[in-house]
Amino acid sequence: MLTIVVDRAKCEGYGQCVLESEDLFELDDDGVSVPTSGVGDERRDDAERAADMCPMQAITVS
Ligand code: SF4
Repeated sequence: MLTIVVDRAKCEGYGQCVLESEDLFELDDDGVSVPTSGVGDERRDDAERAADMCPMQAITVS
């Protein structure tokens, strides 16, 4: 199981992560990205690609 974390203090709501993997992230009412929980290891490449695209480097995947 992947652990995907978005640092809410860093996220500026640009939505690049949502565009890259819309089933792994969504923007909440405050415009901050919320990662999907319970994501399997087979999605690691998708999650890491989204993390790479984040201009604020707010996403960590482990
Ligand atoms: S790409 Fe980064 S800054 Fe933009 S919404 Fe996603 S986590 Fe936030």
